[in-house]
Amino acid sequence: MHADIIVIGAGTVGAAIAYGLARRQRTVVVLDGGDTDFRAAGANFGLVWVQGKGPDLPPYQTLSRTSADLWPEFARELTGEAPVEAKVALEYEKRGGFAFCFGEAEFEKRRAMLTKLHVDCGSNDDDFDMMERAELERLMPGVVFGPDVTGASFGRHDGHVNPLRLLRALHAGILRHGGTLLRDHAVTGIRSAAFGFEVEAAGTIFDADRLVLAAGLGTAALAARMGMHVPVRPQRGQILVTERVAPFFPYPANGIRQTRDGTVLLGTSNEEVGFDTSATATIGTKIARGALHVSPALARLRIVRQWAGLRVMTPDSYPIYIQSNEFPGAFVAVCHSGVTLAAFHATVLAEAIAAGMLPAWLSPFHPGRFDVPKAA
Ligand SMILES: Cc1cc2nc3c(=O)[nH]c(=O)nc-3n(C[C@H](O)[C@H](O)[C@H](O)COP(=O)(O)OP(=O)(O)OC[C@H]3O[C@@H](n4cnc5c(N)ncnc54)[C@H](O)[C@@H]3O)c2cc1C
Repeated sequence: MHADIIVIGAGTVGAAIAYGLARRQRTVVVLDGGDTDFRAAGANFGLVWVQGKGPDLPPYQTLSRTSADLWPEFARELTGEAPVEAKVALEYEKRGGFAFCFGEAEFEKRRAMLTKLHVDCGSNDDDFDMMERAELERLMPGVVFGPDVTGASFGRHDGHVNPLRLLRALHAGILRHGGTLLRDHAVTGIRSAAFGFEVEAAGTIFDADRLVLAAGLGTAALAARMGMHVPVRPQRGQILVTERVAPFFPYPANGIRQTRDGTVLLGTSNEEVGFDTSATATIGTKIARGALHVSPALARLRIVRQWAGLRVMTPDSYPIYIQSNEFPGAFVAVCHSGVTLAAFHATVLAEAIAAGMLPAWLSPFHPGRFDVPKAA
């Protein structure tokens, strides 16, 4: 089977790129693994988040902001172009988001960090605001804040979405634009061929002019076959879900988000435990305590579910985008904020891959940055 481009991995990252390529009239075959694979796409919190991203790599702030700016149009396209029977409401909302601060010192430290980021990125708009507790109470009258909440930073470009619906809509969008999506097709072999690449999956050989490796935690092994060093490791995150209640928490926050159906998501942890996907009582308790610190009234809600998922984490936590030097036409895309960056992946990145070249402004995300020795 021949395609212009084969995308390996149909998680949020691979699916967004494949959707963007298919929309650009490229013939795309997406090869995805099986249901027992590690899948961050089905385990995440659903934030489209900008504030505070990239404190030590300002281009990442710019990248996150670019994607957040593209999100409204991307969401409109993804849902608007679908026929009525295939419409998936993404539950996307961009009203801004909060990061709560406990105590004056933390409040001032956050202000200083966000101000520096704002200056470093040359932002020319009011991308954030520091709000005192009284203002939070005015904006969120249904939330009873804990005594230690001093205030919060408000990121104007933050938002949230239902991540499972996003994934479903991307898969539907790939098919709608003539792409092929094959599940249970874990890639077992990749070779460069006379004109492009040959990929083996489920006993079948596929060939294409270009190749995109976006297989989450499976990417490192695939990239090594194409001469690329892509260091990714799993980082576990856990999330608690409450029973459904009437809307009372109108903005997403880091660690608390009320969904359209009324559940409240509480999270998330950052744990270095290898490939262990267990949900644990210890971390569940820690997450619940953190949420009660923000609002003790959350104690009246019953927790109905808890899950754990593995982030796709690089050594410095920032994305990796690269085209192989040895095998031009083979690209890699991995990151730990695939929901936030979905709009960027489906537009700017897909366009660049279709054109066969990554833009120079993405060079800070080349994995060569890990080869630079640290000063003693
Ligand atoms: C707890 C938690 C909270 C998160 N919260 C947020 C958030 O609020 N906002 C945000 O932006 N991001 C968040 N993320 C991150 C987000 O979920 C990921 O960035 C995104 O899902 C990564 O998608 P991915 O496509 O790279 O990987 P995955 O979703 O893991 O998908 C990888 C795919 O590749 C396939 N695959 C693997 N190996 C092969 C192979 N050899 N051949 C074929 N297919 C293969 C697998 O079957 C899988 O479908 C969170 C993650 C976690 C775990």
